[in-house]
Amino acid sequence: MTTSIATGNLFILAAPSGAGKSSLIRALLERHSHESMQVSVSCTTRAPRPGEIDGVHYHFLTEAQFQEKIANNEFYEWAHVFGNYYGTSRTYIEETLASGIDVFLDIDWQGARQVRAAHPEVQSIFIVPPSLEILVERLRQRGQDSEEVIQARMEKAQAEMSHYHEFDYLLVNDKFEQTLTQLEHIVFAQRLRVPLQQVRHAAKIKDLLANDG
Ligand code: 5GP
Repeated sequence: MTTSIATGNLFILAAPSGAGKSSLIRALLERHSHESMQVSVSCTTRAPRPGEIDGVHYHFLTEAQFQEKIANNEFYEWAHVFGNYYGTSRTYIEETLASGIDVFLDIDWQGARQVRAAHPEVQSIFIVPPSLEILVERLRQRGQDSEEVIQARMEKAQAEMSHYHEFDYLLVNDKFEQTLTQLEHIVFAQRLRVPLQQVRHAAKIKDLLANDG
């Protein structure tokens, strides 16, 4: 029998656009059950891109709706990123972690700072591409943007990457499968930390130490 433990782990994943973060998260979630790990769906004031679905990729809000949520303290963290507001729902995070599910936050370095300050136990992971040449190539391959937009994205990418040292882990996404495995190792190692194991195996530890001292 497995005993469920009502304390999920919180992870932050940050990366510049084009580093492969979204594909890594998608692959990780496909491999593991919804009861085991989830990614938080953020609120944003930016317009949906083609193919993006409200409630799936983001909760798309007006600026007035977003400001109201800030005023009501409804965000776990929020930030102004490249001209738009982005924020994480406090209720979703607290309820999901309380039910024992690990949660991934796909947020920028400003949001990461806020979460770290309020919740020092969070594990933060930064993902970089293997080189600037590969990054620009990946952005071009998407075929979404003009050369001018791509250059602007490259500048933003470098600004985001300059914060890598604030994070607990650094992954270089050279080979996708290898990076995915590294990500899994971080998640699984976190699940084995003593404070969680103490709760999960309380009875066993009691037995093991029964005649101690
Ligand atoms: P995009 O508009 O390309 O989806 O995301 C732009 C940036 O905003 C990315 O770096 C993404 O990680 C960040 N972002 C998305 N959601 C949130 C959020 O809830 N909070 C913060 N601080 N950043 C977010």
